[in-house]
Amino acid sequence: MQMLKKGALLRAASLLVHQQRSPSYAAAIHNHPSFGFLAPYSKHSNPAASNAPVYESKLPLSTGRPRLVCLGTGWGGARLLHDIDPKLYDLTVISMRNHMVFTPLLSSTCVGTLEPQAVAVHITDIQPALFKPQNHVLISEALSVCSKTKQVEAVSDGIHFKVPYDKLVISTGSQGSTFGIPGVLEHTNFLRDLHQAEAIRSKLVDNISKAGIPGRPAKEKQTLLDIVIVGGGPTGVEVAGELTDFIEQDLKRMYPDRAKAMRVTIIEAKEILGTFDYSLREYAAQKMSKRGVRLHRGIVQKVEAGKLTLQDGEEFTFGLCIWSTGVGPTTFISSLPFAKTGAGRLVVDSHLRVLAPIELDVGVTHIPREKKEEEKFSILAEEKATEQPLEIVPHMYAIGDCCANPSHPLPALAQVAEQQGRYLAASLNYERYDPKEMPRKKLTPPGEFVYKSLGNMANLGGYAGILQLSRGRPGVGPLSFSGLVSWLAWRSAYLTRLGSIRKRMLVAFNWTLTLIFGRDMSRW
Ligand SMILES: Cc1cc2nc3c(=O)[nH]c(=O)nc-3n(C[C@H](O)[C@H](O)[C@H](O)COP(=O)(O)OP(=O)(O)OC[C@H]3O[C@@H](n4cnc5c(N)ncnc54)[C@H](O)[C@@H]3O)c2cc1C
Repeated sequence: MQMLKKGALLRAASLLVHQQRSPSYAAAIHNHPSFGFLAPYSKHSNPAASNAPVYESKLPLSTGRPRLVCLGTGWGGARLLHDIDPKLYDLTVISMRNHMVFTPLLSSTCVGTLEPQAVAVHITDIQPALFKPQNHVLISEALSVCSKTKQVEAVSDGIHFKVPYDKLVISTGSQGSTFGIPGVLEHTNFLRDLHQAEAIRSKLVDNISKAGIPGRPAKEKQTLLDIVIVGGGPTGVEVAGELTDFIEQDLKRMYPDRAKAMRVTIIEAKEILGTFDYSLREYAAQKMSKRGVRLHRGIVQKVEAGKLTLQDGEEFTFGLCIWSTGVGPTTFISSLPFAKTGAGRLVVDSHLRVLAPIELDVGVTHIPREKKEEEKFSILAEEKATEQPLEIVPHMYAIGDCCANPSHPLPALAQVAEQQGRYLAASLNYERYDPKEMPRKKLTPPGEFVYKSLGNMANLGGYAGILQLSRGRPGVGPLSFSGLVSWLAWRSAYLTRLGSIRKRMLVAFNWTLTLIFGRDMSRW
């Protein structure tokens, strides 16, 4: 009987792990006998929200370990879940996707150099203990956090529920920023997730097919074949590199007339590849211009269907516009009551603990005591300075794009999020480490979080790349490389960093197929 119950629980847990959000998925959770712990709790406190009942999690299996709830399965969350010791914590993952996206290779999926599944690593491949019955993966959207009751409220397909935590890690990333420019949301494509990469690929193939319809006016045909990328950072440049590879290596062979007519334009407000040093920027600009990419300096004023206008009045028509201008806070992060930097990220201290304004009264679990000098913070950096005394929110941490330490704000990068995830896992493991129970484990107490830049890389297409390595000494300039060597370094670095052997093999296999047979541009 016990075995049967355990089996049912495991099956239901794997259901939670494997299913994307869908009506059948939500119904399955709701009706499954093993999930009686999701009992009705109260109506949603926000009257504007749906009338769906709110659930409180009463997990049926208590191991006595504290429950660590991780919001998000991106670079930060995935690294934390990989490194956390599941013998020290019970785990609940709340995320809108059941996998981690290997974002540096995302642009390759837009043109079919890689297939989407090659860059998505399932979260249980990263932490197999998530299959254990005491751990849960809830594919849902976190809505709010209450530091007093230590609960997260989430929703999936209209079903609201609350999940209690002992430790909470917020790692929900950022979102593409529109800067309030009219028409961006309606008429451009973002590139932050796999479904967005697939949407770009579909539109590209569609436009190429539509441009070949006999009788289509020449102007319309040209618009369909015009691709505009707004933002000349590494992502925008890499997308342009992938597109030019596709045009050169595949489209020319399939439809030479359309390959000739296709134009790729990058619009950048400041400097292209601004984080790289001058010699690499110059090399990249020359290389891209030679391959036919049009580079244009300008600030977008508005976007309409098939056309964008710059502030100086110049207009660009497009069949596909990819918006890649930088990131801002998500609605979830903006809605949280904790302290924010001028750029809207959660304020964390040097131990990645979330901070809040003192008057917020962050939690009954917080033991009142004399405030030490180093715990009084003021927001100084990131866009605008505000003076505000802050205190630590108990048991709550943030990592990755969604947060910043105002005294050392770091860029929104995978390597930052990953290092923070690793640091926090080590720190939380250390907190629970009992030398008597685990004498063979040698854990050292982690100090403050210190970021070590591994350097910058970008793929320019045409078997060329740029690579900038920090020498790690203040006042000493970085090492710079360009060309084939950097391109090979780019490919091998990302291949070795992919989360599982299966995905490494899949990526290597996809690259080989593309090299031998070209890109698969089927569309359904
Ligand atoms: C195309 C592209 C290429 C990039 N290339 C590089 C590169 O080469 N090098 C580099 O260093 N950086 C690169 N970056 C940046 C890097 O990907 C980000 O800095 C990194 O992903 C941040 O990690 P994160 O864990 O903070 O957030 P993310 O990786 O964005 O993960 C956020 C997670 O939170 C989940 N989530 C969001 N909101 C909620 C919610 N309300 N409830 C539940 N779950 C939620 C999401 O589903 C996701 O699982 C690239 C980014 C893009 C888009």
